[in-house]
Amino acid sequence: MTDKVNEECAVAGVSIGVEESAGLIYNALLALQHRGQEGAGIAVLRENRITVVKKRGLVSEVFAKEVLESMPKSKLAIGHTRYSTTGSNTVENVQPFVSHYLTGRIAIAHNGNIINAKQLKEQLRELGVDFNATSDTEVISSLIAYHIVRLNDEVAGIREAVKLIEGAFTLILMTGRGKLVLVRDGYGFRPLCIGRNSYGIMAASESVALDCCGFQFERDVEPGEMVVIEKGEITSSERVIETKKTGVCIFEYVYFARSDSIIDGQSVYKARFNMGVQMAKELPHIDADFVAGVPDSGLDCAAGYAYGSGLPLVSAFVKNRYVGRSFIYPSQLEREHAVSIKLNPLKANVEGKRIILAEDSIVRGTTCAKTVKALKAAGAKEVHMRISSPPFRHSCYFGTDVDKPENLIANQHSIQEIADQIGVDSLAYISIEGMKKACSDSRLDFCTGCFTGSYNIDIDEYDKAILEEEKCSGIEK
Ligand code: SF4
Repeated sequence: MTDKVNEECAVAGVSIGVEESAGLIYNALLALQHRGQEGAGIAVLRENRITVVKKRGLVSEVFAKEVLESMPKSKLAIGHTRYSTTGSNTVENVQPFVSHYLTGRIAIAHNGNIINAKQLKEQLRELGVDFNATSDTEVISSLIAYHIVRLNDEVAGIREAVKLIEGAFTLILMTGRGKLVLVRDGYGFRPLCIGRNSYGIMAASESVALDCCGFQFERDVEPGEMVVIEKGEITSSERVIETKKTGVCIFEYVYFARSDSIIDGQSVYKARFNMGVQMAKELPHIDADFVAGVPDSGLDCAAGYAYGSGLPLVSAFVKNRYVGRSFIYPSQLEREHAVSIKLNPLKANVEGKRIILAEDSIVRGTTCAKTVKALKAAGAKEVHMRISSPPFRHSCYFGTDVDKPENLIANQHSIQEIADQIGVDSLAYISIEGMKKACSDSRLDFCTGCFTGSYNIDIDEYDKAILEEEKCSGIEK
């Protein structure tokens, strides 16, 4: 188990006038790799046939040069990177999913987690639909296929189906008749944006993918909106799902998204920097020698804290950029020092110093304790930890792997007890209001459920228990 919260997935799609869609989606997925490292897939359309290549692994592992070059030349493609928060980590659950139905076919890429998958699956089974995978995306795919057949219309079928889905879902669909369809749930839990260049249109979870592929950001897909694209042009856009309020996952700004993305009008980097400035303003003053961030997640808010407090910003660690997934968990004897394999304290900078250490969150506290221990072993005199999100006390049911409340350190212990456990001289968290204020360029409201216990969607205790069990367990929905 890592001590970080993981995002579920990234999605991307492209409709262009040249037959280079697979390569573009590959580059988009590379830019979005941070949103999921367990599996990757690309589906392309050529002459009404959908070809999909997908496997477990990183984007570069799944798509060796010869694999990518062997894919059919196409002007339309979608792609996906996966981190499994529901459904087991098997190849059947890697996306895009392709559904073949009576009158056509459809490929789908999904980011989020739907909370009525079990009920929808039961209804579809009664109608004679079979399922191969355990993830909720297959349920969405089958539901859409069912309604397309029923209404004998691709767009009407998708419109009808998404109205029945509850929870977090950002969808990119590719139909056998050449349409690229984008849908964002009514709350807008997960991001989705559209970019354009002279060849056509790209849609992606984050604007960084558009930047990397040479598409100019045009706009975000609005919560509840469905956009249809054909031959590189938007042919329709309409609000298909009504909700009373919006609720973008605020943790996208705290940790999930890449700093160089802009989501719903808010620069992710600026949000993190502002969180640091806000912490310097609202948390008790500490006499310290400098501010440092835990790489990479704490670096942007550390810069903001230094700016807000007037203290210098100094590096306290060197990160090994090449460890990645090749990291082999060491023997019991070495485990205590395992954190230094990825993150080694800079003794020359930290020895004898009082340090304000900025980090984005504390989930279970295990890695945090090792990081602080390594810093003290390198000679740090004092370590004062500052966290740019409030204490994690509650679970998430909307497409992340935030753990069960009993495994969250802040659900079980007071802030002073956490400080004692992780070995810091002081510990303080940003306030909920402070965190929201840091994201005030966003046009939308936020979900803050894992911090407050209050969710935008009412989920009763029975359903919460079922959703907890489904998370990461591979239990069939
Ligand atoms: S509960 Fe937390 S992690 Fe989940 S969507 Fe809301 S803010 Fe994001």
